[in-house]
Amino acid sequence: MHIHTPACPCFIIPSSMLRKLAIQADGAERQRLLEQLERSAFLRGQRAASGLAAPGLLVAPGVRHRTVYDAHHGTRLPGKLVRTETAAPVTDTAVNEAFDGAGTTYDFYQQILKRNSIDGRGMGIDSSVHYSKRFNNAFWNGRQMVYGDGDGKLFTGFTHALDVIAHELTHGVTQYTVPGGGLVYDGQSGALNESMSDVFGAVVKQWHAKQTVRKADWLIGAGIMTPAVGKALRSMADPGNAKLTWSGDDQPGTMRGYVEGGDVHTNSGIPNHAFYLAAMKLGGHSWDKAAPIWYQALSLLHPDATFADAAQATVKAAELRHGAGSGEAAAVQGAWHEVGVV
Ligand SMILES: [Zn+2]
Repeated sequence: MHIHTPACPCFIIPSSMLRKLAIQADGAERQRLLEQLERSAFLRGQRAASGLAAPGLLVAPGVRHRTVYDAHHGTRLPGKLVRTETAAPVTDTAVNEAFDGAGTTYDFYQQILKRNSIDGRGMGIDSSVHYSKRFNNAFWNGRQMVYGDGDGKLFTGFTHALDVIAHELTHGVTQYTVPGGGLVYDGQSGALNESMSDVFGAVVKQWHAKQTVRKADWLIGAGIMTPAVGKALRSMADPGNAKLTWSGDDQPGTMRGYVEGGDVHTNSGIPNHAFYLAAMKLGGHSWDKAAPIWYQALSLLHPDATFADAAQATVKAAELRHGAGSGEAAAVQGAWHEVGVV
């Protein structure tokens, strides 16, 4: 048996992007952004301590159990309890957005993938908002979601983008679904971990908006940043789109651009683009065929899975769902071939 490093904390904003933004800032602003980077590195070092959540009680499918806490700009988690499942909306928008986004994501997993919450056993979904001061990130820490407010200059907050919320919750789903405790957050398995979160982040957003694969924008993180930073974090349709952000999107879309030793948010562009291509080939809504295939593939992976393993697992899942030699299996195989993985 291998001993695997737990997978998270997993962030939405890559540290490489925050570093570039810090470098172009000046004086106190630069200092503050660099301190936030150190804070993220510190949290990553703490991951062994956060560990896996205790298995939840088995709760009946369809019963949501959400709680939202206010960290009051501190870093102690979870903070003060401010909203529970049965409580009415409060005056704090971030609290309500975190609550509603968790609910939509829960509903997607329940209704479309027949999964009962993050752990498949009805686990409560806990979120903390107002984490730290002007914190430019959101993350899943291994047991709960954590949202900064953004500094207002670069990022405007992280709770108002449904794909960001679904991205973070999916880190939890991956952790509980890939046999062996998730996908190690480093190298290709780390990029796959990030990609799975982008995939289901995008699909939940499309499902909520009832968009076809052709209508969807395939952007991740649109609406969390000021125009000074750009339009969105990443594009699954066009990884490496230089016009997306001021700092430039450094994602490759195929293995030709693979970055040796690259950040998990960089090489994730390759499996992201494979999903986009498969979804376009399969047509209709991404949640009809493409997402269930990718979801089933999670159980066929292992903590150190490579892109080639993901290609094999998704083709296998397509065969299990639609038959060997089916058009669906061929579409998935073709997508991975186009990005140069197989
Ligand atoms: Zn992530």
